[in-house]
Amino acid sequence: MFDATLKLNAQVPNTIYRKSVAEVEVQNLAKRYGKLEAVKGITFGINRGEIFGLLGPNGAGKSTVINMMCGYLRPTAGDTYIRNLSVKKKGRAVKYHIGVVPQELALYSDLNALENLTFFAKMYGIPDQQRKKRAEEVLNFVGLYQRRKDTPKHFSGGMQRRLNIAIALMHSPSFLLMDEPTVGVDPQSREHIFATIERLRDQGTTILYTTHYMEEAERLCQRIAIMNEGSIIAIGTLPQLLARLEPERTIQRPRGLQELFIQLTGKTLRD
Ligand code: ADP
Repeated sequence: MFDATLKLNAQVPNTIYRKSVAEVEVQNLAKRYGKLEAVKGITFGINRGEIFGLLGPNGAGKSTVINMMCGYLRPTAGDTYIRNLSVKKKGRAVKYHIGVVPQELALYSDLNALENLTFFAKMYGIPDQQRKKRAEEVLNFVGLYQRRKDTPKHFSGGMQRRLNIAIALMHSPSFLLMDEPTVGVDPQSREHIFATIERLRDQGTTILYTTHYMEEAERLCQRIAIMNEGSIIAIGTLPQLLARLEPERTIQRPRGLQELFIQLTGKTLRD
């Protein structure tokens, strides 16, 4: 199997490493679009093998954070360190460590599922003789092996998204960033996606999962950061977050992140 770690270590000088225990560190990350402060200097860490949820309503800044963390978008200030490696300074090297499942699907509609994967494998420098085997392995992992010869245009939205996840996994990244992977997805594919994420976690992959569905964050994530208007307004494990709920808020409705979000912002997650 392709070993991203070896490749990374071979090309990175010591000077751009930093000392830290977290797999991923986000430090004072900020993005400004003209007058709009889309992300207002946020800081958090993600532990190795953790599913970390970034929960917030539409427009909170989640995609902007993901795009800066993986190097697609240059921050106005701050930086992300993945295994102590600066995304700003060493974006190309970091690329071998991370897999990104963007919100917009990135598939070639004229290539079949297998060909899509081998195409992206080439981009990641996976040796020719390993590409097909790895593509089949990954298709199996996301439950699309039987459909490997079909083109994505014949897939449901959920299957297309699973293929997108497969692409992100081709080079065996240690850190996977997923931007709202279940939006517009049928229930069967949603379950497949959850199962895939849980299996990846069990194998030690670190995952950043953004969503505006609080139930998903509650089900999947070890720790959750709640974002609103470009800031993190609460962070912790689910029990830690729920402990912040004022007692009178839990009498009529079940304790949940929705209730905490209302307490902190005065609005619902889907406003
Ligand atoms: P989320 O992913 O939480 O829905 P986004 O990160 O997409 O939020 O957006 C955060 C804010 O930044 C929104 O107000 C959005 O309109 C704004 N924004 C995002 N991208 C751009 C851009 N390229 N130019 C200007 N404003 C942007």
